[in-house]
Amino acid sequence: LFIDGELTDAISGETFDVEDPATGQVIGQMALGAAADINRAVAAARRTFDAGDWWKKKYNERQEILWRWSDLIERDIEFLAELEVRDNGMPLALARGMIASGLSAIRYNAGIVSKIYGHTAEISGGGLDIHAYTIKEPAGVAGLITPWNGPFASAATKSSSALAAGCSVVLKPAENTPLSAIRMAELAFEAGVPKGVFNVVPGYGHIAGQALVEHPDVDVVHFTGSTAIGKQLVRTVAEDLKRVHLELGGKSPVFVFNDANIDEVIPAAAMGIFRNSGQVCFAGSRLYVQDRVFDQVVAGISEFAKGIKVGNGFDPASQMGPLVSAKQRERVLGYIEAGRSEGAQVTAGGTSIDGSGYFVHPTVFADTSADMTIMREEIFGPVIGISRFNGLDDLAALGNATTYGLGAGVYTGSVSTAHKAAKALKAGNIWVNSYGFTDKSLPFGGYKQSGWGREGGFEGIDAFLEQKTVYVKL
Ligand code: NAP
Repeated sequence: LFIDGELTDAISGETFDVEDPATGQVIGQMALGAAADINRAVAAARRTFDAGDWWKKKYNERQEILWRWSDLIERDIEFLAELEVRDNGMPLALARGMIASGLSAIRYNAGIVSKIYGHTAEISGGGLDIHAYTIKEPAGVAGLITPWNGPFASAATKSSSALAAGCSVVLKPAENTPLSAIRMAELAFEAGVPKGVFNVVPGYGHIAGQALVEHPDVDVVHFTGSTAIGKQLVRTVAEDLKRVHLELGGKSPVFVFNDANIDEVIPAAAMGIFRNSGQVCFAGSRLYVQDRVFDQVVAGISEFAKGIKVGNGFDPASQMGPLVSAKQRERVLGYIEAGRSEGAQVTAGGTSIDGSGYFVHPTVFADTSADMTIMREEIFGPVIGISRFNGLDDLAALGNATTYGLGAGVYTGSVSTAHKAAKALKAGNIWVNSYGFTDKSLPFGGYKQSGWGREGGFEGIDAFLEQKTVYVKL
């Protein structure tokens, strides 16, 4: 654990295994944080927040420290990327990109530090002479909870937003992937973030995570994970109404119109689902294709899937790594079985790969229908379902027939169609003629059960700020 500026064992002395999903081998032991350790970490965060150890520093000093932190991450990018491959299994090139994405979040948020301010307003009534203004203040102690699919990028985005706002932080990373979070906090400390301001407590979600959400000294909970756990968390915070931000699951639709450039669509739509083994919240898992190009797209994506080199993330030839755990592989295989039994046709993959590690072939189902389980539920694996659609007439009905609303894609040669589709789709992120590009300067988040609030961009800081209005009679 990393609490109050030091690496420390859990109070219980217990540890848990850290596994390499490409081999199934245990590669290390991590201290197993529990409620008592969360108490220690929250106490450190509370103490530093109440004393103003971080937020009372002048903005230029905080900004310089965040920049220094990002420079240390850049210095160690290879090491951090390797940790991510060992922990999560993703290909090394993707891991480098994920670290770079976290790094850019820190630099973007360092810039925001100097741009957090309120405003003044004219007063219309009351007969008094009033000068009024607003102030933005850090919300306090932020409890951050992250998933395992992009461990470093998620933790870096959350923690740098919280720190930029002036909060003190306790981070609970996913139990499957705790390694990079610990190193990230050590580097923040080395860069000058005061001790106790950034604490990391790996442990089980239902114990350490739950304790963090319940803790009365935590002011804000910022969560990325499944919709099911997000709902549970909301029920927990109903007790004390602490603020909560949710980045949840998705079942994102992608539409290919007859006039799209099919040569570009095939690799882009395929990697829109197969990148990171489909373990991406906005993965384009439902593909709708217009009639004239349907057969060509199904054949092209199936061929592409068969050609993907699946292997250990450290093999430079690997384009897709394993799933994160044996449990996740079983879950994905269960969905593949459901697809078959409900009548969808497998045109590529459909099986796991024998041997050690948790590998599954990229899998394509054609002629799927909206009522099939694989077209309704988030699989979080390398599985795509392909259906037909007629055009703008049924795009919204098909695309929006989901409880989620995280991402959506449109491939078309028509500017008009692209804008009409973007307007019709109920999702927080729409991609046109590409899929999945994100930038930390822009807000990211979901409609409906894909979440509450936005992460990234200027909006991302709001989750960690309180706003106060001051009325002064002159
Ligand atoms: P998860 O099971 O919901 O877990 C997410 C985090 O919550 C983990 O750290 C987990 O700890 C913790 N947790 C579990 N139970 C908890 C509880 N009762 N109280 C507090 N924390 C608890 O999700 P996951 O399987 O790790 O990640 C996959 C999901 O995340 C997918 O649904 C995906 O779409 C979503 N996701 C969303 C975004 C987004 O930006 N919208 C981005 C990435 C992923 P343990 O690891 O110990 O269980």
